[in-house]
Amino acid sequence: MQLDFMPLPSEKRLAIRVTKQAEQAIRQGHPWVFASAIQSPAKEGKSGDLAVIFDRKRRFLAIGLYNPTSPIRVRILHSGSPITIDDSWFADHLRKTISKRDPLLSTNTNGYRLVSGENDGLPGLVIDRYADTCVLKLYTPAWVPHLRSIVPPLLEETQAKRVVLRMSRAVQKEVDTLHGLSDGMILHGDALDGPVIFLENGLRFEADPIVGQKTGFFLDQRDNRARVEQLVVQEQAHDVLNVFAYTGGFSLYAARGGASRVTSLDISKPALAAAERNFALNHDQPNIAHVHHEILAADAFKALSEMARSGKQFDMVIIDPPAFAKKQNEIEGALSAYARLTKLGLRVTKKGGTIVLASCSSRVDADTFFNTIREAARQSRRPMKELSRTGHALDHSIGFPEGAYLKCLFAKV
Ligand code: SAH
Repeated sequence: MQLDFMPLPSEKRLAIRVTKQAEQAIRQGHPWVFASAIQSPAKEGKSGDLAVIFDRKRRFLAIGLYNPTSPIRVRILHSGSPITIDDSWFADHLRKTISKRDPLLSTNTNGYRLVSGENDGLPGLVIDRYADTCVLKLYTPAWVPHLRSIVPPLLEETQAKRVVLRMSRAVQKEVDTLHGLSDGMILHGDALDGPVIFLENGLRFEADPIVGQKTGFFLDQRDNRARVEQLVVQEQAHDVLNVFAYTGGFSLYAARGGASRVTSLDISKPALAAAERNFALNHDQPNIAHVHHEILAADAFKALSEMARSGKQFDMVIIDPPAFAKKQNEIEGALSAYARLTKLGLRVTKKGGTIVLASCSSRVDADTFFNTIREAARQSRRPMKELSRTGHALDHSIGFPEGAYLKCLFAKV
């Protein structure tokens, strides 16, 4: 393994005391300790040191990964009774987490999330699988010294042939803590020249773990895509518009459901080219071979306005935009964007048609999102009958409030 050159994680533990409020949050299972909540760091630790948090009576409270440069100073691995975090703890925890996904294996799916960070008790670490390739994405450099404990059990548990390392932009900047690791590096197995192909509910997709968004594919929408296919069948939708289509996830399900025309709209030409390749990968399925798939590279707001102006309408419209609100001060702008998209979406949906609206902004909670849509629909005098409200698929477990980021509404117009 390529990690043999890495220094071993530090043997020493940092002792930390936190504010009363933070203590309570930890007892309630919150996975983060902010820098501002730390009252007495014994000494400044290094990224990846294990920090033991004590309560005010100096009893063990929790243990987690320390990062001296992040406002999230400690990410908690375990709280409650004292334990030792070592190779076998990481291996056991990983095994348990991965086995929760076993039900997916019977659905003709081999592209899914193996580890969902905070939600699975491994904060700041996401691992996705695309067939034989695992993509490990770090949201804190504190994981770097522990990769040695993660990669071997990961290979054993998944029988994967390749492990790709990805890092968030913030982590990429912390060069001093990376020991030569870099974004896109192969940690195990052969180099990758281009995308990998995997299955989702029996559909073939390509994902590029090195240059793709997230880890190459939006795996969190799997169940919502299946719901779109069901609705296309049920409502006999012929003409479907997929806005913010990326590599055509929803489009393929709509096509397999029997739509005769599917339009994938996205601002990214490379994403749309991948969508076309994904259609080609599934030509053995008659419905997909026969569909008329159109791609439209354009700004969604502009294209929808033009369609609305020219009276173009579809039987089903799917709108799954990027996260508009990643920071607190972006929430207002995000809500007005959701309202605009709802109004535009309703104008291009036929009467009796179906609209699907999704939000992956973690800063916008479900109620606010759904209320924004309802209000926008009311203002545009296009009543909607809600069919369902949904969230993530099973592999994107929700372990803490911020984990519930995906919201999706299905409605009839
Ligand atoms: N629905 C997709 C995921 C969408 S991700 C799926 O199921 O896989 C968001 C997509 O929005 C990206 O592909 C990005 O290129 C696109 N995008 C971002 N801003 C856009 C804009 N103004 N107009 C059109 N597409 C945009």
